[in-house]
Amino acid sequence: MRVVADREVCVGAGSCELLAPDAFKVDDDGAVRVLQEQPDDAAAVRDAVSQCPTGAITLLERD
Ligand code: SF4
Repeated sequence: MRVVADREVCVGAGSCELLAPDAFKVDDDGAVRVLQEQPDDAAAVRDAVSQCPTGAITLLERD
């Protein structure tokens, strides 16, 4: 399982950071950064992925 983010697509809305703060951080440039590529809390990451308004973050079930 691995988390990937497309910083070109991210609009910095920040819901991912709220839902899965261990895995995502919105940087000062307004784009998301993945803190944990292999997340401890996969459920929170799945929730964040489903709530992202732009589809910028993806959870790959395989590495
Ligand atoms: S929820 Fe999506 S658009 Fe918003 S900061 Fe996170 S990755 Fe970017």
